[in-house]
Amino acid sequence: MRLRNIPRAEGVIREHRFVIKRPEDQKGCWKQVFGNRNPVYIEIGMGKGRFLLNMAKAHPNINFVGIERYSSVLLRAIEKFDTEEFCELKNVRFVCMDARNVEDVFAQDEVSRIYLNFSDPWPKARHARRRLTSVEFLARYEKILCEGGLLEFKTDNTELFRFSLEQLEEAGWPLECFTFDLHHNEVMNQGNIMTEYEEKFSSKGNPVNKFIAVRK
Ligand code: SAM
Repeated sequence: MRLRNIPRAEGVIREHRFVIKRPEDQKGCWKQVFGNRNPVYIEIGMGKGRFLLNMAKAHPNINFVGIERYSSVLLRAIEKFDTEEFCELKNVRFVCMDARNVEDVFAQDEVSRIYLNFSDPWPKARHARRRLTSVEFLARYEKILCEGGLLEFKTDNTELFRFSLEQLEEAGWPLECFTFDLHHNEVMNQGNIMTEYEEKFSSKGNPVNKFIAVRK
């Protein structure tokens, strides 16, 4: 998702109390950021924030960090947070960064779960390393997830999903469960919170793939 540049985005992000301005300074200190010892779950490529905010509302004893590369997209998530529905949440923070640098922001064991939702497919083979489920990214996640930490991935792009399953195998990450049709899988769909893209593509009839993998 790449919205047109919104000039005021930088200013809003700079001023917002829940955007972490120098995320590298918080490495190893996320418990202090939230002021409690609750587990930290992150969503990489949060987009407009629907999933993250609804998850935070449904799970007040989990701390959620939403990571998004583009300020104009993050602005939309912040605007959603600032509505009556979400503005009282204490368990949400936002970071504007490229997830390639995720190890600079979280220490080993600091993250209990990573969510990737409808990640960009990067269809050209020469761009495969940029896919958020590539072995290169799995190696980064390995450095921040705790033992038993989970990686959850949803996409309607079956080619990307199959690639991702292969990458898990190559990297030696155990697969806890997977489905090629989440919305018709009673067990895996329990408590499912839809993302913006999930709503859009499933309403067109596209099945949603999902896996849950365990940090190796
Ligand atoms: N997760 C949302 C959803 O399901 O509705 C948005 C999906 S959108 C296709 C992918 C999002 O991931 C975009 O907002 C994009 O800017 C962000 N993104 C892609 N690569 C990223 C990276 N390396 N670091 C941080 N964000 C990234």
